[in-house]
Amino acid sequence: MPSAFPSALLGSGQPLTLRGAGHSCDGQTVTDGDMLVTYAPEAAAQQVRDLGDGLIEVPAGMSWYGLERHLNRRGAAIPVLPDYLHMSVGGTLSVGGIGIGSMGYGMQVDHVERIQLIDGTGTSRWCSRTDHPELFRFALGGLGTVGLIERAVLRTVPYHRETHLHRTRHDTLNDLVEHTERIAQRDDIDVYYASVRSGMIHSATGWHGSGPERCGGEDCAIVSDLSLRGNYGTARTVAPPPDHVRLCTDYLVPAGTFAPMLAAVNASRHRVPSNRGLDMWWILIVRRPSDAVQFPFTPVGTAPVSIGVGLYTSVHRDPAAVAATRTVFRGLLERCLDLGGRPYLYGSNDLDPALTERLYGTDLSRLAQLRSAHRLEHVNAHLPLARAALAGPVLSSSSPAAPIRNDQCRP
Ligand SMILES: Cc1cc2nc3c(=O)[nH]c(=O)nc-3n(C[C@H](O)[C@H](O)[C@H](O)COP(=O)(O)OP(=O)(O)OC[C@H]3O[C@@H](n4cnc5c(N)ncnc54)[C@H](O)[C@@H]3O)c2cc1C
Repeated sequence: MPSAFPSALLGSGQPLTLRGAGHSCDGQTVTDGDMLVTYAPEAAAQQVRDLGDGLIEVPAGMSWYGLERHLNRRGAAIPVLPDYLHMSVGGTLSVGGIGIGSMGYGMQVDHVERIQLIDGTGTSRWCSRTDHPELFRFALGGLGTVGLIERAVLRTVPYHRETHLHRTRHDTLNDLVEHTERIAQRDDIDVYYASVRSGMIHSATGWHGSGPERCGGEDCAIVSDLSLRGNYGTARTVAPPPDHVRLCTDYLVPAGTFAPMLAAVNASRHRVPSNRGLDMWWILIVRRPSDAVQFPFTPVGTAPVSIGVGLYTSVHRDPAAVAATRTVFRGLLERCLDLGGRPYLYGSNDLDPALTERLYGTDLSRLAQLRSAHRLEHVNAHLPLARAALAGPVLSSSSPAAPIRNDQCRP
């Protein structure tokens, strides 16, 4: 469905699924019914407004790639970018947004000044930390459950073309864990990421700027436009082969608890029925700003510093293989919760009502109240989050909790 009249569509009361670029990977934007698509990177670029003082107003349908290129030409940059940039601003803010810059700057939603949100009556309002603060908190990271983000005002930082990147190869997972936990204690680093791929373990630590003083050692490189790497030109293909299903998930745990989380991932890796098991892990550190707002559903809750491990695999489009992978993910999700962590809701997570309530507590009933007050019951109603909010408290109930999951996986 075209996005020309989002207020009219939202206000119509017809069941509606919101979609940006559709890159979330657990059926969040799959529907047989009406869909409101905001992603329009070319058209959106003409509507960017520079508000001064480092603030920029952006239409939700813009891509991060287009926005970053636009800003860089003007000496500014987005503080935290995802590694893949051909996704919509609104869709990523609706899940949280983390990246290699999260070491220095937290989540993308930590840099949102205000958003223009359309509710289920078609009413549009600007929400910020001071105006409609609850809608602001629930919309950012809220998967579109409290309305459509139409525009966002974002804080930018000065553009530094170059990053000093120190790369480390680790012989063991223990070495990686100790190194990552040590880096997580520091507040003078701009960039951190690590990967485990086919048994090879690497990490990189970076500082923005062009001063030569940091690069003395052999493993140091000065890299230009690190955030744009791999994103130039048209979108790279991120879909798996046609007979495969992509299954991705990320777990973020408070710093200090990364060792048991990674040990659980390592113990499970051969139980995923793909050729190479679970062989691609991506590790990030998220250090929240001191004035961070507490968002109910983002992958980081109250922890000031968290460490995330992202797991990316694709398995044959065979129900048994998909179920086996989801069983592995479910076990890891429970371990993540035991450690005080959270899942990243763009990914594949089987959240049953009891688990959802354990994770989000009273914010779930508040979500139900907000959806009712703003007539949003017809918007994104298929999402596990919306369904758990509607189902109400289950932990005190004696009846067994039925799992809530999406039946369709995006290829
Ligand atoms: C290859 C790849 C790499 C990725 N890398 C990263 C990464 O480095 N860091 C990271 O944080 N994430 C990453 N992700 C996950 C990504 O951020 C999410 O999938 C995000 O949702 C993608 O944005 P989108 O426009 O495709 O959103 P969609 O998938 O279209 O939507 C996501 C959710 O938000 C809702 N929604 C969409 N637009 C709006 C809107 N305007 N207002 C309200 N609700 C809306 C949808 O209903 C849905 O529930 C990656 C995903 C892929 C496929």
